[in-house]
Amino acid sequence: MSATNNILTDTFGREHTYLRISLTERCNLRCTYCMPAEGIELSPKSHLMNFEEIYTIAKTFVDHGVTKIRLTGGEPLVRKDAPVILKKLASLPVELAITTNAVSVDRFIDTFKECGIKNINVSLDSLVSAKFKEVTRRDYFQRVYDNIMMLIEEGFNVKLNAVLMKGFNDNEIIDFINLTKTHRINIRFIEFMPFDGNKWDMDKTVSYKEIIKYVYKSFPQEKVLRIADAPNDTSKNYKIDGYQGSFAIISSVTNPFCDSCNRLRLTANGRMKNCLFSASESDLLTPLREGKNIEPIIQKAVQAKLKMRGGMDTLEKLKKPELHGKNRSMITIGG
Ligand code: SAM
Ligand code: SF4
Repeated sequence: MSATNNILTDTFGREHTYLRISLTERCNLRCTYCMPAEGIELSPKSHLMNFEEIYTIAKTFVDHGVTKIRLTGGEPLVRKDAPVILKKLASLPVELAITTNAVSVDRFIDTFKECGIKNINVSLDSLVSAKFKEVTRRDYFQRVYDNIMMLIEEGFNVKLNAVLMKGFNDNEIIDFINLTKTHRINIRFIEFMPFDGNKWDMDKTVSYKEIIKYVYKSFPQEKVLRIADAPNDTSKNYKIDGYQGSFAIISSVTNPFCDSCNRLRLTANGRMKNCLFSASESDLLTPLREGKNIEPIIQKAVQAKLKMRGGMDTLEKLKKPELHGKNRSMITIGG
């Protein structure tokens, strides 16, 4: 199928080859920037996609050009049938990846290997146990840290996602980079983004520029290498000369990368989102259950994709709670 009549190509010519599927709205952590303090109203189980529905919808996307699927959540591994879903999706001709908080990855090593999963993204916002507890509202630092080391030892490509918040963990940027000295790991510093109920404040966001300033304060400029970004990469990648690992910055707030966006999202209750920041959603699950063809709905949703950040194309617009507050909480989108 040519790019022009592909149902996954939008009006700006962006071809969507990457689908992120949220498996659950539940989580075994309660990260302050993701899960509203008062919790969220969970969808009834009957409103969530079962494993066959996940497979059927995913296959429709793959038939139209999706080549990469990432499972996310909530915490994807808290879903009881996660191994079944992983194995089913592994039968599709795609690169399968997962984003997890690593609390329970030690129980999934064999499943990951069986499914050909090589790339695992793990959230870790602090290297200090007490701060980990403060941000996640749970006391699992050592377990998560040990599991990350286990993933590296087992040969997975691990990316660590750290959401930076001013006055909380911006003083750990260099400690995180120092981890890359001896560990083959990619640390990704993520600008704190606004979603419903996460008490976002621009003053808490550590910007791309500020992160780089910290780096240049601690390392001589010639040692800080700007390395190649993968196609459609959301991150700007760097490396300290001679270090085994690398680091990157994801700057959705101050430096969005919408021009090269190739991502679509599917929520656990079967809604398609054409953009992380978009407030509008398209229900795929109900029509699927009614035996209808979901391809025209997918096409319409892709065609409706706006040029930048769900229409919040300036920082001023992104800052407005009446705009970003219309979107879901991150825990129910999946990042
Ligand atoms: N539970 C898994 C985990 O934590 O990796 C997967 C789901 S989580 C929603 C996916 C990613 O979104 C995580 O890396 C998390 O740090 C990131 N995230 C959540 N809320 C965010 C926010 N407000 N700004 C930036 N990143 C956020
Ligand atoms: Fe759970 Fe991940 Fe959200 Fe933290 S970031 S509350 S681990 S879904």
